[in-house]
Amino acid sequence: MALAISDQVRALMRPSAAALEPYDPGFSPVEVNLSANENTYGMPPAVRERLNAALAATPLNRYPVPLADALRQRIADWHGVTPAQVCVGNGGDELLFNLFLAFGGPGHVLVNCPPTFSVYGLYAGLVDTPVVDVPRDPVTLRPNMDALVEAARTAHLVILTSPNNPTGDVASRQDVARLCQACPGIVLLDEAYMEFAPDGTTCEDLVNTYPNLAVLHTFSKAFAFAGGRLGYILADPSVVGALAAVRQPYTVDVLVQAAAEVIADSRADFQPTIDCIKAERTRVYQALLGMGGLGVTVWPSCANFLCVRVPDAPRVWATLRDRHSILVRNFSSTPGLGGCLRVTIGKPEENDRVLAALNQILSQSSKEA
Ligand SMILES: *Cc1c(COP(=O)(O)O)cnc(C)c1O
Repeated sequence: MALAISDQVRALMRPSAAALEPYDPGFSPVEVNLSANENTYGMPPAVRERLNAALAATPLNRYPVPLADALRQRIADWHGVTPAQVCVGNGGDELLFNLFLAFGGPGHVLVNCPPTFSVYGLYAGLVDTPVVDVPRDPVTLRPNMDALVEAARTAHLVILTSPNNPTGDVASRQDVARLCQACPGIVLLDEAYMEFAPDGTTCEDLVNTYPNLAVLHTFSKAFAFAGGRLGYILADPSVVGALAAVRQPYTVDVLVQAAAEVIADSRADFQPTIDCIKAERTRVYQALLGMGGLGVTVWPSCANFLCVRVPDAPRVWATLRDRHSILVRNFSSTPGLGGCLRVTIGKPEENDRVLAALNQILSQSSKEA
């Protein structure tokens, strides 16, 4: 049920908070949920068993270690940095919020590159951060790097997402380096989907070159842990210090720390499903390209989703949900994404259902037209 804020209560709220509504992820009970870029394969059973044992052995009477030192050490070893260069959070979302608490605020400009993850603009607004948008190219949906670098010169914070949500494109090393050099503030490179990109695409190692670069990762997508809430930032120790100063100390609880240690140790076990998702992405992309005659446009993606433009997208979205029990994400009212849906890549049988349903809906409407 949607929560409503009464006029009386709204009048009591801080103006930037009063401008908001409670978050509604638009979930409805369906057979095939491909709306939130989750890993629909779930955890490999052997990993889940080890995770269960770790949870069962975790005492609950003591407060968690605030920065999850044991987990931090594992993440540091994994990425070839020191533990002082790692900050954990209750999902990447909390770290993004902390980033705005620490570096945003009145007079602290965010340079954003829409269409992209809506959370950046939301959190910017919540702490009264002015936003300068440098829109992506309307056709390729890729960032205008020259304009972005120019805008970065006076920014306190720049966010670039690679692979970008929902467009799927990645930033080059050179792009990231240029931004870090131009920006006197912090450059946040959001690599939430990097595990699905070709090897060598990550720019995380540049945190050792640029003290103003912070790279965000999450266990929510490739590591099938969206429900557990664990994200982390790799950055200069001083930037980690700033994040640690504003964060609530106990948001990554003992159970999540224990589970995340197991996942970090077991990361190789996730590779087969990641490879399968990547192969499925290619297959679904090709199939959608083949539906060009039905008015479908699809962009190449390095993430676990595809951005697809279809005729009459709101109706297609609703028909998928109501007739086919398939939920995808409707972006058709987002500026720059008219007609676009975002389809998470799931298991082969889930992807088959989406393709068959889209084919049916669009063939039907092209006959009627
Ligand atoms: C999913 C996502 C995140 C973080 O998700 P959490 O579940 O909060 O870790 C961050 N950035 C982008 C672009 C995402 O799509």
